[in-house]
Amino acid sequence: MQNTTPDSNLNSLELTCPSCKKTVLWNDNFPHRPFCSDRCRLIDLGEWASESHRIAGDNLDINSEDEHQS
Ligand SMILES: [Zn+2]
Repeated sequence: MQNTTPDSNLNSLELTCPSCKKTVLWNDNFPHRPFCSDRCRLIDLGEWASESHRIAGDNLDINSEDEHQS
């Protein structure tokens, strides 16, 4: 009989939150893993999204100004 189970190994797995570098455990206490919280998950996604949105927004702004002026 085995004393250890795959579940106990998973519960001891430690990660680092990509947003705030806090320790996150790979278990049900951290449903947003690898992030420590939903907020950190949104921050990470938001940074990525706002960067591409800013680039796309600049392009759209230039195009629409061109159309308005010509
Ligand atoms: Zn975090």
